[in-house]
Amino acid sequence: MASAISIHPAIDHGLKPAREGFAGGTLKCKCADPVVVTVTAQSAHNHACGCSKCWKPEGALFSQVAVVPRDAVKVTANGHRLRVIDGAATIQRHACSECGVHMYGRIEDSGHPFYGLDFIHTELSDEEGWSPPEFAAFVSSIIETGADPEQMGAVRARLKELGLEPYDCLSPPLMDAIATHVAKAAGKL
Ligand SMILES: [Zn+2]
Ligand SMILES: [Zn+2]
Repeated sequence: MASAISIHPAIDHGLKPAREGFAGGTLKCKCADPVVVTVTAQSAHNHACGCSKCWKPEGALFSQVAVVPRDAVKVTANGHRLRVIDGAATIQRHACSECGVHMYGRIEDSGHPFYGLDFIHTELSDEEGWSPPEFAAFVSSIIETGADPEQMGAVRARLKELGLEPYDCLSPPLMDAIATHVAKAAGKL
């Protein structure tokens, strides 16, 4: 039975598995003459994200966002249209100034646990074989952008049905990775 709740258009109909040997693809914004970003790596840690900062397609409750090594991300067409959404944010989201789609997010603070990784939306690519979403992050945050608090039980149930464990921060392995980084920086580990 189809659910009345739309998590994200690339997730609502079930997850497609990663293709073995898949090594990246081409991300395009929604313009007729698009900004093009070429990614030469498979994605990692793909997930649904409920935060208010990630780019979401029209009508979606969540974004779908993954990481790739920043060295694997190259702007290959119409880069002059990219603008940083918020220069003060930890993740600098480079968006098309015409259609508003975020093409990649980059962390410039070399002390950040995720420095060296760029955030991308794999749905902007026509290629199939990207790593599928593995969990849902910042689920409670969708309320901040207008989701009905009464609907949260149904949203979490739908995420579980799709195989995406709902978390209100990042997943435990990623939270552990951040804490480990902080502990090492502080000399506790
Ligand atoms: Zn997010
Ligand atoms: Zn555009």
